[in-house]
Amino acid sequence: MMEINVLVVEDEEAIREMLTMVLGQSGFTVHAAADVQIATSMMEEKTPDLILLDWMLPGISGVEWARRLKKGETYSEIPIILVTARGEEEDKVRGLDVGADDYITKPFSPREMIARIRAVLRRTGKFGKGGKIELGGMALDIEQHRVTIGEAELAVSPTEFRLLEFFMTHPGRVYSRTQLLDQVWGRSTYIEERTVDVHIRRLRKILIGHKREELIQTVRGFGYRFSESS
Ligand code: CA
Repeated sequence: MMEINVLVVEDEEAIREMLTMVLGQSGFTVHAAADVQIATSMMEEKTPDLILLDWMLPGISGVEWARRLKKGETYSEIPIILVTARGEEEDKVRGLDVGADDYITKPFSPREMIARIRAVLRRTGKFGKGGKIELGGMALDIEQHRVTIGEAELAVSPTEFRLLEFFMTHPGRVYSRTQLLDQVWGRSTYIEERTVDVHIRRLRKILIGHKREELIQTVRGFGYRFSESS
């Protein structure tokens, strides 16, 4: 499975930060913009796999931008979830009318939002085979948060799960401790680099029990790599 990029467009800073954090914790790569203008330039850099779009934005509104994106050629395939504080049925119809793929009303729980995003990604065929990654004899079930080797379930912590998820979606490449901290723990948290080593050691210990410890390799002087071939 590939990396999934979500573009968050939300003018309220606190909500934007909350969404960025929650999405990041759930394994998505997040870019966030405060308005349509910023979002448009971000899209030129990187085409998102899904847009989480606030209805009410300064300048061009979310619903108007959704209509333009869906009518245009370049970005019409990108799923859009409209976020709004307005819960009226009429708005919902209007949102879906302009081509939005789903609609979520504030306030909503992070869990509900993630579930909606996954449902839309699945429906639009972006989430791979039921959110499952299989590599090196190991299977990662993103929905159920389970890691298995054959019939055996691995007792990994949520952090170790995210670490494995990152490794398995980026196999064969070497990542430094700093890069792993950014990608797995998130840039906003301050954690020492040796925390990465601690979690890698724990993961290897678990993998040894299944004779799969060679999956996580140390690249001396640089960092770590997940690879099927040693
Ligand atoms: Ca707003």
